[in-house]
Amino acid sequence: MVNKLTLNSNIIEIKSNPILGRYLVTTDEIICDEIIIEELPFIYGPKVNSPVICLGCYCKLDCNNDGSRCPKCKWPLCENCIDYNKDHHLECKIFSEAKTKFQNLNNDTYGCPQLDCITPLRLLLKMEKDPERWKNEVEPMEYHDKPRQENKEIWNADLINVAKYLRGPCKLDRFSEEQIMRAIGILEVNAFEARTAAGYPVRCLFPITGILAHSCVPNTTRSIYPSENFRVRLRAMVDLKKGQQLNHSYTYTLDGTAARQEHLKAGKYFVCKCERCSDPTELGTYFSSLKCKECLKGLISTTDPFDPNALWKCSQCSSTIPHDIVSQTINRIQSEVDSAYAIEPSPERLEAVEILYRKFSNTLSPLHFIQTSLRQSLIEMYGRVEGYEMNKLTTEQIKYKENLCRQVIEVIKIFEPGLSRSKAILLYELHIPVVLLAKTYFCEKKISIDEFKNKLQEAVGYLYECHNILQNEDPISHEGSLSRISQQALKELRESLEEL
Ligand SMILES: [Zn+2]
Ligand SMILES: [Zn+2]
Ligand SMILES: [Zn+2]
Ligand SMILES: [Zn+2]
Repeated sequence: MVNKLTLNSNIIEIKSNPILGRYLVTTDEIICDEIIIEELPFIYGPKVNSPVICLGCYCKLDCNNDGSRCPKCKWPLCENCIDYNKDHHLECKIFSEAKTKFQNLNNDTYGCPQLDCITPLRLLLKMEKDPERWKNEVEPMEYHDKPRQENKEIWNADLINVAKYLRGPCKLDRFSEEQIMRAIGILEVNAFEARTAAGYPVRCLFPITGILAHSCVPNTTRSIYPSENFRVRLRAMVDLKKGQQLNHSYTYTLDGTAARQEHLKAGKYFVCKCERCSDPTELGTYFSSLKCKECLKGLISTTDPFDPNALWKCSQCSSTIPHDIVSQTINRIQSEVDSAYAIEPSPERLEAVEILYRKFSNTLSPLHFIQTSLRQSLIEMYGRVEGYEMNKLTTEQIKYKENLCRQVIEVIKIFEPGLSRSKAILLYELHIPVVLLAKTYFCEKKISIDEFKNKLQEAVGYLYECHNILQNEDPISHEGSLSRISQQALKELRESLEEL
């Protein structure tokens, strides 16, 4: 296959095969943290099912208030964007000329279908404006028409809300129904979600980054910079060899295999066959396994991760469980967990999560994805919610928080080796109990000065790694601000070590 997409990089090349479609491989060794791809989106715009938002800066707007509307076309635009709206001007012309007005809604909790046409329209207008780039960069993208058509409800909604709306009331019959449905498919299958500086979601279509194959153990990490027009930088998470396939995770790596596969099937229309998905133990973590109630030693995992009806079997004895009993158990546990998560961060929520974490430790494997999620929630709350601030925690509670951090980091090291942002956040969390415990033990004369220094040195290591991972993030993002905080903490900790 001849590929006309020009890569602004000589360390990767595009290949293709019938199973993966197009994918990227390295043409040289790449060291961890090196930038592999850097590009601006072809277009960006509102997500599907978006509530009423400003079409210039994507902030949330009142769905029933004529005050925040574009003076020209009357579509949603906030006060700040009325004079300057570089994102909105293309569709603004279409809507004002066709006199298609935005209809106010009483409720947009489940999204505003009128806005579903915006991003596909921006893509089609860009296609007209830059046919060469479209042909080389966007046209080869997957759009999975067949499986999308099988989901009649969504297909028909897109057909009416977008294709027929653009061709009819917006007078854009120069685009065929097929072209419009294909633009929707290209976005659905290939776009990445990003956040604006103010934290509002948008979706971006990146021609090169979009070629990356998926793996549930990715070897690249992407950062999207809202302050640079949503520029993406893709970096190597680990050292890469020459000729190695680049891959990226299109799903949440801390979900179990069943949930990841479901998400990939529904959104990306494929079954992942990566090393992790093919292994019933998920690389030895037993991330989706249950404890065996017969032998009380083994862990029960599926006998075939690609067959949802496969029998689940114990690793130590001959005990088995039918798949439907396993999914009922997980669903029941998950709904209890969800109701605890529905509570606002508070001592009540901490106590509810704590009870569930202890209760389900009898049923779920030690590193199970639900236990891991509960641990993450506890880590966030210990040291922060009222009554559990860091200075109010007992030594036992501080030790407990330290252990929770270590257990989650253990899992992340396997699923996101190398420069993982999730790991960086946890390393920051971990350094606090390590420092506090060292101080307490030293004051109580339980450890020597050398042991004290060693412990502080260990915390320096965590902060250094945290900062090293996050230093490339957009300064205005949450990770960017944690990067600065960790750098400051690192400086202070090094100074106090020198004074000892
Ligand atoms: Zn705005
Ligand atoms: Zn307008
Ligand atoms: Zn996988
Ligand atoms: Zn057993």
